[in-house]
Amino acid sequence: MIIVVKPGANEAQVNEIIDVLEKNELQAHVSDGAERKIIGVIGDKSRLTPGSLEVLAGVEKIVPIMESYKLASRQFRPEGTSFNVKDVTIGGNELVMMAGPCAVESEEQVEAVASKMVACGVKVLRGGAYKPRTSPYAFQGLEKEGLKILRRVADRYGLLVISEITSENDIEYASNYLDIIQIGARNAQNFRLLSAVGKSGIPCMLKRGIAETIDEWLGSAEYIMSEGNYHIMMCERGIRTFETATRSTLDISAVPVLKGKTHLPIIVDPSHAAGKAQYVEPLALAAIAAGADGLIIEVHPDPKHARSDAAQQLTPDAYRELAERVKDMAAIVKRSYPKTAQF
Ligand code: PEP
Ligand code: MN
Repeated sequence: MIIVVKPGANEAQVNEIIDVLEKNELQAHVSDGAERKIIGVIGDKSRLTPGSLEVLAGVEKIVPIMESYKLASRQFRPEGTSFNVKDVTIGGNELVMMAGPCAVESEEQVEAVASKMVACGVKVLRGGAYKPRTSPYAFQGLEKEGLKILRRVADRYGLLVISEITSENDIEYASNYLDIIQIGARNAQNFRLLSAVGKSGIPCMLKRGIAETIDEWLGSAEYIMSEGNYHIMMCERGIRTFETATRSTLDISAVPVLKGKTHLPIIVDPSHAAGKAQYVEPLALAAIAAGADGLIIEVHPDPKHARSDAAQQLTPDAYRELAERVKDMAAIVKRSYPKTAQF
């Protein structure tokens, strides 16, 4: 359930509510909205004496939340969530553009991409250091060295770093190099990893599991939020269906559905959904038209020779064309495009 706090309630009245909850071994998650304060209540509500909250001076109303996710529910923050990672706002009116290679292969490779991305409005550099490959014999990533390369290159261009972490054991080391943790599709229901990312407090992007329903995916977000980390982006990256023409089927309807169900910002990854470079741009445009708050796209200086996901990576020039069209689409849906773009 959530408790809507009376407008104008003072600190003592809010603390009184939290005290009652904590005395009953319930967790209180406070959300300070622009218009009202909401307290999300997690735990076994049957411990409460009926009526014990309603009588408190600071309580305006109590709203039960039927879904199994509570903090991720739109009701917890009706106005939507936006947050800053350094100087980049995620979930604001301005779209967030993230791009970079599938995997970090060398400093020269990342440099060749990053040097061209800034002028396209990109603010976040992606690159896999720990690669979750289907085959154990495929390139597994440069791991620690990959993270160092990403950080060095990103710092040269004033970019943020996003990179996937596949084990809770790597979070502490990685936190020295990245700004945003990516939780990959294959780990979307690795609950220990989710809780550890929650405890770390590091902003994260939670990809949708390959066969995860939207409600299950929000359950994954709840694992992170219930540990106190509210800086989460949801990333739709396609789901497994009977269709084989694309690598995954981009569930474009997930964007408006999520907008109704959650307050969290929504990013779309058309690269892993498409699996083929020629479909990336149309899917990117569809995502923005549907209301996505940003995009994450794979770009490689020489896609044909990429060590992973060769078929879906764009050249920097193809990315620039895509970005120009995304900017036009942003104007149609009344979203702003990063001013750093030079087109
Ligand atoms: C990735 O973005 O590097 C990746 C492996 O994607 P996904 O987890 O969506 O397959
Ligand atoms: Mn990839």
